[in-house]
Amino acid sequence: MYKNVQLFIDGQWMPSLSGRTLPVVNPATEAVIGTIPHASKEDLDAALASAQRGFEVWRAMSAYDRSKLMRKAAGLLRERAGDIAIQMTLEQGKPLAQAKAETLGAADTIEWFAEESRRAYGRLVPARAPGVYQMVIKEPVGPVAAFTPWNFPLNQIVRKLSAALAAGCSIIVKAPEETPSSPAELIRVFADAGVPAGVVNLVYGIPAEISSYLIAHPIIKKISFTGSTPIGKQLAALAGQHMKRATMELGGHAPAIIFDDADIDTAVAQLAASKFRNAGQVCVAPTRFLVQKNVFNSFVDKFVAAAEALKVGDGMEKETTMGPLANERRLPALQALIDDAVAQGATLRTGGKRIGTKGYFFAPTVLTNVPLTARVMNEEPFGPLALINSFDTLDEVLTEANRLPFGLAAYAYTGSAKTTHALASGVECGMLTINHPGLALPEIPFGGIKDSGYGSEGGTEAIESYFNTKLVTQLDI
Ligand code: NAD
Repeated sequence: MYKNVQLFIDGQWMPSLSGRTLPVVNPATEAVIGTIPHASKEDLDAALASAQRGFEVWRAMSAYDRSKLMRKAAGLLRERAGDIAIQMTLEQGKPLAQAKAETLGAADTIEWFAEESRRAYGRLVPARAPGVYQMVIKEPVGPVAAFTPWNFPLNQIVRKLSAALAAGCSIIVKAPEETPSSPAELIRVFADAGVPAGVVNLVYGIPAEISSYLIAHPIIKKISFTGSTPIGKQLAALAGQHMKRATMELGGHAPAIIFDDADIDTAVAQLAASKFRNAGQVCVAPTRFLVQKNVFNSFVDKFVAAAEALKVGDGMEKETTMGPLANERRLPALQALIDDAVAQGATLRTGGKRIGTKGYFFAPTVLTNVPLTARVMNEEPFGPLALINSFDTLDEVLTEANRLPFGLAAYAYTGSAKTTHALASGVECGMLTINHPGLALPEIPFGGIKDSGYGSEGGTEAIESYFNTKLVTQLDI
């Protein structure tokens, strides 16, 4: 059922020149289900030359024609969503329904950016002297290198790919080695839609080798990375050294603030869904739950019940609502964070350990009264782990919400308009969603501040970062 994956360079699917491959493992069964080619320097050189040729062709095409091809790709993705979702669940573990939703969401993203490409206006600035025209022109920045992780195999790529293509850039995608097949199917819809050879290229291999080679290479003009803050800082430093534009979508540690006057049942239902979606392996997942004193006990009881109601299992099984962790290394990482918190005095209300010995399943976990010194209150857990503490006043909760160097997403539930305004100006984050789960739509900005990175992967801001701004000022003679 699982498709072995190849590199895609200059419009051709191919093995790596060295013939080396890496295995792909199903996280629910631990079975090796396929292989991916391992790109060497020669493959990367071929991809770079291809991206340069692709750029010349793509930038010369009208936005109208580019948009049509992108919308055709979106249509193909929708038609193939059922098959692609199966590939994604087999390699990543998430429940099939979530994999299908991600695939359909990717089609929406392509379409939105396709439409946006036709509205990438420049502007005319009123001049000081008669006969002078001051034109601000948007030009595509050039071939892009994108590095994406395994938690949302399609979604992480499609935001970079669609914005780059909409702006007229070509791209080399270094997709996740753990979850390579669904990304390859995403690339295939662009090829099948008729996007010219070289515009879209796909490689896999050793991430550090590929990123250091591509970022430093003169053909690449912009990079975009999604992953952890430590790696993001390394890649941003490398980009700076070579004066390359960069978008960095990095780690988070989202506060979820629940006030006494909130609708608690709605808050529990929506936050539990956000917390445990994709087994918590989500950069914008709510992590530090800060609950006002009067509703603390009822919130915790209801949240624990929601965690215990989840059906953890193989994502291919219909009744599964939470799949395994995507890779083995996350099991000891999570266990160490939980053990440390409990040793420091946190209360384990549910979960706290691996389920079984086959497959990387981890129990939905709730810790309460977690000391601020616990590692997990400072490091991104990236798993099905909720940390619930209480607070008294608005000032106190803002101090805790802003305590960490991260600033990605934040959540709040309150019935007070005054409180929502205080939160809107007071929480240091790139995205704040109040009284509903409203993040990550193509038409709205998506990105962080502080150590969570810079740049946006949604809204008009996303396409903007793939343009150079050129001024042409002329005098009529
Ligand atoms: P990791 O830091 O080793 O890798 C994260 C991602 O970056 C992976 O996709 C990996 O292939 C890639 N990567 C690693 N080194 C790279 C390099 N030098 N050049 C280019 N790409 C590189 O961590 P991990 O064990 O895969 O995941 C754990 C942590 O990563 C999580 O705790 C979380 O903080 C972060 N993460 C964040 C996101 C996100 O959506 N922001 C997604 C996945 C992982």
